[in-house]
Amino acid sequence: MSKTPEDIIRDEIMALSAYHVPDSAGLVKLDAMENPYALPAEVQAEIAKLVATAALNRYPDPGASRLKASLREALNIPPEMALLLGNGSDEIIQMLVMAVAKPGAVVMGVEPSFVMFRMIATFCGVRFAGVPLKPDFTLDVDRTIAEIAEHRPALVFIAYPNNPTGNLFDAAAMARVIEAAPGLVVVDEAYHAFADRTFMPRLQDYPNLLVMRTLSKSGLAGLRLGLLVGRDVWLSHVDKVRLPYNINVLTQLVAEQVLGRQALLAQQAAAIKSERARLFAELGRMPGVQAFPSDANFILFRTGAAEQVFNDLRRQGVLIKNLHGSHPALADCLRVTVGTPAENDKFQRALSKAVNT
Ligand SMILES: *Cc1c(COP(=O)(O)O)cnc(C)c1O
Repeated sequence: MSKTPEDIIRDEIMALSAYHVPDSAGLVKLDAMENPYALPAEVQAEIAKLVATAALNRYPDPGASRLKASLREALNIPPEMALLLGNGSDEIIQMLVMAVAKPGAVVMGVEPSFVMFRMIATFCGVRFAGVPLKPDFTLDVDRTIAEIAEHRPALVFIAYPNNPTGNLFDAAAMARVIEAAPGLVVVDEAYHAFADRTFMPRLQDYPNLLVMRTLSKSGLAGLRLGLLVGRDVWLSHVDKVRLPYNINVLTQLVAEQVLGRQALLAQQAAAIKSERARLFAELGRMPGVQAFPSDANFILFRTGAAEQVFNDLRRQGVLIKNLHGSHPALADCLRVTVGTPAENDKFQRALSKAVNT
């Protein structure tokens, strides 16, 4: 008798539902925190030239040394810290969890937060301990520290700003968590471009701190490039589980080129921040809508009958993210990515229709 999937596939994988990416064809796409702006034609032409002559017959530089040098300069990475690159920060989360996955190891995160922390722990057969945020989405420091003492996590993930709530946690509260943790603490700064605070300069102060960033939310989601910064005593071991050619030739070339355009990236981030302020104010004026303040490129809001509002928006041609049902604290919550002014206008018009029907 041949075996069935139930015989072969691990129970915790059988129990999972696959990460669902909805079809967005023909819709205004405000569901995935992408940067809505294309690159200017002249930068596109430079990229076309680079791609045309790229050595696609060769494996990429396994250490991506030129790209790393550009990243160090563009992101002000402390020179004494090591740098590890991933095929998106998702891959870095996976490398970190694989590296610490001893029998009985625990990975911890707050909830609600980025779902990949828990999912990747499950993929790797590692127990995930989720600590609830307070109802206002701030860190519950006392509870987090108590759970750290109980579970002794090898790894703690904290998104700063947090996704899907959009807020920055209090820096002093974060410091208490970092100090209490017996293992590594990864501060995931995926939304750094839209926030004014960072733990990058605090790497010197905390030997167990790592800071993770990504270019995805700054306009290069399609390239897949994430980075991890921290002490070489840690990163040299994480690097052993990295697949040798994880950053492909085109990503290395194009990311380096775009990173040379800091003024352009800063201008796009500034436009998104200013639209975020406008959108937040307008959501605040809509009856029946409660918007949560955001330091990221999206806004979480609560509204009656969120599921219906979400479907109504989609029928009107606007795709956002429905978070209702994903966590008790997110009941009736929806998340909208900040788009271009025209996209945001279309979203607002659609939303006021949806909440008024
Ligand atoms: C989007 C996101 C990421 C993943 O980014 P990639 O680099 O595209 O894999 C990581 N962390 C948080 C909190 C995010 O929201």
